[in-house]
Amino acid sequence: MIILLKNGVEKTQVDNLINWVKSQGLSVHLSEGQFQTVLGLIGDVSGVDIDLIRGLSIVENVTRVSEPYKNANRKFHPDDSVIRVGDTKIGGENFTFIAGPCSVESKEQICTIAGEVKAAGANLLRGGAFKPRTSPYDFQGLRGDGIELLLEAKELTGLPIVTEIMDLSHLPLFDCVDVIQVGARNMQNMELLKALGKTDKPVLLKRGLSSTLKELLMSAEYIMAGGNSKVILCERGIRTFETVTRNTLDISAVPALRELTHLPIIVDPSHAAGISRFVKTLSYTAAAAGAHGVMIEVHNDPQNALCDGAQSITPEEFAETVRGANKIREAIAGG
Ligand code: PEP
Ligand code: MN
Repeated sequence: MIILLKNGVEKTQVDNLINWVKSQGLSVHLSEGQFQTVLGLIGDVSGVDIDLIRGLSIVENVTRVSEPYKNANRKFHPDDSVIRVGDTKIGGENFTFIAGPCSVESKEQICTIAGEVKAAGANLLRGGAFKPRTSPYDFQGLRGDGIELLLEAKELTGLPIVTEIMDLSHLPLFDCVDVIQVGARNMQNMELLKALGKTDKPVLLKRGLSSTLKELLMSAEYIMAGGNSKVILCERGIRTFETVTRNTLDISAVPALRELTHLPIIVDPSHAAGISRFVKTLSYTAAAAGAHGVMIEVHNDPQNALCDGAQSITPEEFAETVRGANKIREAIAGG
């Protein structure tokens, strides 16, 4: 249920209403936007007398929200959420470039790539330390040591780091990580999502391989219901009947999610395409569609990468992609 308040109501009146709602056994999400103040009621609202609330002098309107995701719902929070990571703001009017290798391989590799992507315009450094590989015989990542190397690259460049968590028991290793990634394979690992909901770390939540947007939003809701509202959604391609590309980039997910939710939306063209020469085009498409950023796999030696070399672009190609994506954004902003 959503209570839209009249303009200019006093804080004490709002507090009184919030306290009354809480006394009904519900929790409240307060969104104070530039133009509107909205109270989102979460819990079993079936017993709430909607006419009683409608009759209050400070209330403009009351509507029921049928979607099961409440915290993530745009109706609960009409303005875009903007999530701060170091000096970078993700969401709203901002466009964020997250770049780095699929996996952290060595100190030299991650530090070299970090310096190069930073010079090319990256805002955050990505790199997998724990890798969810399809085959148990493939490189599984440097695990805790990989996180240490990411922190060294951060120290060197100042870039905040994004890295994937695969298991709840590893959470203590992520204390100094700036953004925790939940990979496609773990999008519905509910226990992991609940645990991340108890932290105050931004979470980059990737869409599952065959998940609907509603399921993605319900997974975001798991994190937010625990008290952590810093969720960034990531469209990374879904499984379809097509085999030319690794996955199918669902570009319509971007405008659809922008309507359904206030959370930032990042596109990962690398895992969507699986082919490095398509990454630039898909990044441009993401910028044109209204994404809040892209996450791109960049490697200094893609042919010899230990993971996902075929979809990794070089730092030079990344620099070109940044320039082009920025031009597209400027063109759109210029109307
Ligand atoms: C990754 O980002 O390296 C990764 C494994 O992504 P996904 O979960 O989208 O497959
Ligand atoms: Mn990868």
